Amino acid sequence: MARIVQKYGGTSVGSIEKIKMVAERVIEACREGNQMVVVLSAMAGQTDGLIAMAKEINPDPDLRELDVLMSTGEQVSVALFAIALKSLGYEARSLLGFQAAIHTDDLYGKARIRDIEIDRITRNLDAGRIVIVAGFQGLNARGDITTLGRGGSDTTAVALAAALDADVCEILTDVDGVYTTDPNVYRKAQKMDFISYDEMLEMASMGAKVLEIRSVEFAKKFNVPIHVRSTFSKERGTMVIAEIKDMEKVAVSGVAYNKNEARITIRKVPDQPGVASRLFDPVFKAGIVVDMIVQNTSQDGFTDLTFTVPKGDFYKTMKLVSDVGKDVGAETVLGDEDIAKVSIIGVGMRVHAGVAKKMFSALAEKNINIIMISTSEIKISCIIEEKYTELAVRVLHDTFGLNHAKEEIL
Ligand code: ADP
Ligand code: ASP
Ligand code: MG
Repeated sequence: MARIVQKYGGTSVGSIEKIKMVAERVIEACREGNQMVVVLSAMAGQTDGLIAMAKEINPDPDLRELDVLMSTGEQVSVALFAIALKSLGYEARSLLGFQAAIHTDDLYGKARIRDIEIDRITRNLDAGRIVIVAGFQGLNARGDITTLGRGGSDTTAVALAAALDADVCEILTDVDGVYTTDPNVYRKAQKMDFISYDEMLEMASMGAKVLEIRSVEFAKKFNVPIHVRSTFSKERGTMVIAEIKDMEKVAVSGVAYNKNEARITIRKVPDQPGVASRLFDPVFKAGIVVDMIVQNTSQDGFTDLTFTVPKGDFYKTMKLVSDVGKDVGAETVLGDEDIAKVSIIGVGMRVHAGVAKKMFSALAEKNINIIMISTSEIKISCIIEEKYTELAVRVLHDTFGLNHAKEEIL
């Protein structure tokens, strides 16, 4: 008997018909003798709809109350799902985040899971029930509802799989695995049979939303095997696992893009010790995650500092940085929301030379200007104008031979 955590995303439970269909799939796994814990997202579009309603009242809604509101999407789907299972004659129990004892920190809207008390879930499993847990939500030390950030049901699922020592965490979604790039952007994308935690981590943090980044962090830390597969077929999907040897054979194994970042430049910052720390202090205190940071070489005692933040934090960051910019004597603060980040990822980059040069030439050939560059051991990212995103993804996919990725590895 295996213990399986399955997570179904928004499109997979997007209608009553789909809920009934997914319930049958879970029952089948249960009949095969497995203990099933099912994590659900809100029905497709629900979370966006709830946020839009709040923003009709106030474009910058109170974060505590926004979490109370957003968490209702998952409350609806788990209840409907449990009703479906019970109607089919199966014992089931829906649990909201607080009932499943998913404890988080205090950051409303992007809370981190601290620990999960599994007793209530295991008691229900031992009683032969299918347990259905609302994804994306938890409870902080004050007893308030928190949410884990967009796409956070993946994190709920992997964290539960780790806490419950599950045999596998299956992420069931509207694509049949992890591809070399978003298959909805480039039809030549290839499905991967395996991907390492490190590569998946980079793909996810570079914008491949098929897995939410924190879910991959959890999986790596607790060695939880993830199986990404389609809700609508039984085909094997992609296994996300620790590194395997042959992975270094190819330099680049995936291309990702992210249209959700904005760029902020602080012009003519006095080039003195402590200034960068002062500029970023209010940004970090506000819990805003800064991605790329580039500082130019100093001229006449001044320098320019450019960085990127999530688009949702753009206006708030502009305000914070404009205020502190004045205090430190910077000239101006400029912002640009029409940017995108394209990245190439591969553990093989560690042993292959000339990858960056090949990337820059490919973009240059299509006349795509590179605004910022950042690298890590296994990825290179370029900020470009947003309108070139799809073109850049396709040209990089072609340049690094990913259209035939499988044949090259074999
Ligand atoms: P869910 O609602 O099931 O959580 P998401 O929409 O969050 O699903 O994630 C699945 C989507 O991720 C796919 O529809 C696809 O467009 C996108 N995606 C982006 N990059 C990739 C990739 N490299 N491989 C597979 N899917 C990707
Ligand atoms: N419903 C949440 C969202 O839309 C969480 C999730 O789907 O994973 O972001
Ligand atoms: Mg998702």
